[in-house]
Amino acid sequence: MAYDYDLYVIGAGSGGVRCSRIAATAGARVAICEDDRVGGTCVIRGCVPKKLLVYGSHFAEEFEDAAGYGWQVGESKFSWPTLIANKDNEIDRLNGAYKRLLSDAGVTLHEGRGRLIDANTVEVAGKRYSAERIVIATGGRAVRPGIEGAEHGITSNEAFHLKTLPKRILVYGGGYIAVEFAGIFNGLGAEVTQVVRRDLILRGFDQEVRQHLQKEMTRKGVIFRPNTELVAVEKSGDACLCKTAAGETIETDLVMFATGRAPNTQDLGLEQVGVGLNKAGAIAVDEWSQSTVPSIYAIGDVTDRINLTPVAIMEGHFLANTLFGKRPMKPDHANVPSAVFSQPPVGTVGLTEEEARRVHGEIDVYAATFRPMKYTLSGRQQQTLMKLLVDAKTDRVVGAHMVGDDAAEIIQGIGIAVKAGATKAQFDATVGIHPTAAEEFVTMRSKRPPLQAKAAE
Ligand code: NDP
Repeated sequence: MAYDYDLYVIGAGSGGVRCSRIAATAGARVAICEDDRVGGTCVIRGCVPKKLLVYGSHFAEEFEDAAGYGWQVGESKFSWPTLIANKDNEIDRLNGAYKRLLSDAGVTLHEGRGRLIDANTVEVAGKRYSAERIVIATGGRAVRPGIEGAEHGITSNEAFHLKTLPKRILVYGGGYIAVEFAGIFNGLGAEVTQVVRRDLILRGFDQEVRQHLQKEMTRKGVIFRPNTELVAVEKSGDACLCKTAAGETIETDLVMFATGRAPNTQDLGLEQVGVGLNKAGAIAVDEWSQSTVPSIYAIGDVTDRINLTPVAIMEGHFLANTLFGKRPMKPDHANVPSAVFSQPPVGTVGLTEEEARRVHGEIDVYAATFRPMKYTLSGRQQQTLMKLLVDAKTDRVVGAHMVGDDAAEIIQGIGIAVKAGATKAQFDATVGIHPTAAEEFVTMRSKRPPLQAKAAE
């Protein structure tokens, strides 16, 4: 049967754009549809604008630190509307660049929401297109907790477009997005209260990393309310009154919910076509990203494997290579490095101390906590944490973690070594670059007794 396209991709985010582009470059006839702006969560309302706000919020500390180096910085003044407008211009530029990437590769863009009609047909804006293969790359969306008055709060979507910077903000949640936005608003001068239902932020991360970051964020002024659950949000004039399960009321100007994201599976026609979902409500796929319907594949956050942009890009790229590039490639989800752009940032690759002990039994732990050189003259008390976890039997480094300036930049390189299976002896044989913080990763010689920390919940 002759199809309109060899490949139809639903969703033009990072994964969908990469998949369609690589397929088209390999000679496939490809179309993609998008009902929002091309670029997806990461480019339009996620990683990219978030990082720009992180940069923007860091200047207050830079000005403070400058004094110790002899600089007298005059009175500084921050304009939220300027930062937002400049950020928006950059997002517009990237949106245009993504559209050009598609057209240069020969991918046809259909504007509108895609819906499956059958295993080889997609409907967009009232028109039907047939395709030999279909890829669903619809990503995820922010979810609000089901509490009374949740409509009075915002999510990260709206945080990027606030007209004014709130004086006080309550951030609810302890995940990536919550700690990143707590840092942004705190750095820009708002009074930030972060309400977390557990005792520590960043569940799933190394316990020591979680403790260290929470301590450093507290030092910078974020007010933590651990072991606290909200049950309702009420409006009172311009203020929001947040009621906790313990019967307290926390007053704030704005509430931001960062309580997780859900895969975008609704209203796609999945059920009638027979595409199966997993327990978490994400599209169930095999190791080749193939769904339960053989002609339909899914990549990125809608599959809820590892919800990171570079992972979606890998999944999309490898799928296109497999289907059209005559190069079958399974995405490899082991040892994916990641970062949290908190302040200070976190970089991590491999296993946490708790996981390493569970998986490998006997492990060696190397950890260092120190004040970065830059802060000796500035007087800032911020401490950096670096940590290596080594399988005692094989000497292989199975986890590396850092909380401190440039953690994301540093862990990217360490990630190559961990992925390549480097041993601690090979780390030790690597000459450090002096003076840097990163050199600590190749100069840690003393094993530290294991933490008596309770296993990560
Ligand atoms: P996460 O799943 O990371 O965190 C959600 C947080 O909200 C957790 O602290 C969770 O607590 C809490 N929570 C969930 N439901 C409730 C509830 N009903 N009441 C109170 N608290 C609740 O989600 P995020 O939204 O922060 O991020 C989504 C994903 O996006 C991440 O998993 C990550 O993969 C990706 N991301 C990556 C970034 C990066 O790479 N730098 C940046 C931003 C996002 P608990 O731990 O108790 O479940």
